[in-house]
Amino acid sequence: MKKIVILTSGGDSPGMNAAVRASVRTALSHDIEIYASYSGYQGLVSEDLVPLDTVGMANCIQLGGTILKTDRCLAFFDPKVRERCVHFLKEKKIDGLVVIGGDGSFRGATLLYAEGGPPTVGIPATIDNDIVGTEYTIGFDTARNTALDAIDKIRDTASSHNRNFMVEVMGRRAGFLALDVGIAGGAEYILIPEVPLSADDLAVRILDSSRRKSSSIMVVAEGENPGHTLALANQLHQKTGVEYRVCILGHTQRGGSPSAFDRKIASLMGNKATQMLIEGNHNKMVAWVHDRLIPVEFPNPEHPARKVTDRKLLEINEMICK
Ligand code: ADP
Repeated sequence: MKKIVILTSGGDSPGMNAAVRASVRTALSHDIEIYASYSGYQGLVSEDLVPLDTVGMANCIQLGGTILKTDRCLAFFDPKVRERCVHFLKEKKIDGLVVIGGDGSFRGATLLYAEGGPPTVGIPATIDNDIVGTEYTIGFDTARNTALDAIDKIRDTASSHNRNFMVEVMGRRAGFLALDVGIAGGAEYILIPEVPLSADDLAVRILDSSRRKSSSIMVVAEGENPGHTLALANQLHQKTGVEYRVCILGHTQRGGSPSAFDRKIASLMGNKATQMLIEGNHNKMVAWVHDRLIPVEFPNPEHPARKVTDRKLLEINEMICK
């Protein structure tokens, strides 16, 4: 292993920089040259690789976003474009690739390898924590703390004005973020994609509440339809007469300085990814399983999303929020 490429792809998440820094410095300490493909796969498509050095990694561990930029590089879906990337990487004698991103990014890397590209190791990064095969993805802890901070602030107003709020958090395919933030924020209701509730069901619950509270917070995962909480609030108002103010946290949850946990786990994942390439343990993802980092297969493209399966947590929350 002499020359490798690193890129961040798909949605950004806090902690990506810590992973880049660790991966780069691990490579350099093994006398491996390491290059950036900026803006996800776009750097490969544009045939533009930028050498990275240890000094360039200084002072980035505390930064949100990604210093390597990221992009949803649509050109990379085209097999002819990927064929050109394979030629380019062969010409440059690149013998490894570290991809930091979500299951879409790993799918791209898997196709590239199958078509003659370099061996790859993936580092899972998304605030949704929903990638199959790993119990943790970089950015989740920071995002839940950011959302929790917002909920605490909203609760001040909810309580002072005796108002009800619905807070929409990210999570298209899974409700991990909504669940953790809801429990930690003392939310009276938590709505996640895994347990769909109709407006009618919800209205019954609201009207049946055994203890009427003067204010409440409902945490709602965005699901497949970000912004849907506004319409839901209207429906609930019509069905129950209870008025809900809506706050959509949106992209605030993706940014910000990574938490201690994200920085630590991302650093360890970055180091592990380069080590795996060196050991020939590639076309795998670094995964956090039972509090340990291990190599696992990339997620099956047919079933890439991990879901909340422990419904008991919702029941407990109902019990303790009455
Ligand atoms: P994530 O990695 O966070 O799941 P995306 O699904 O948007 O994000 O994927 C990020 C990028 O990875 C895409 O813009 C594209 O460049 C590449 N990619 C994703 N899926 C594929 C695919 N099926 N074929 C080729 N490239 C892909």
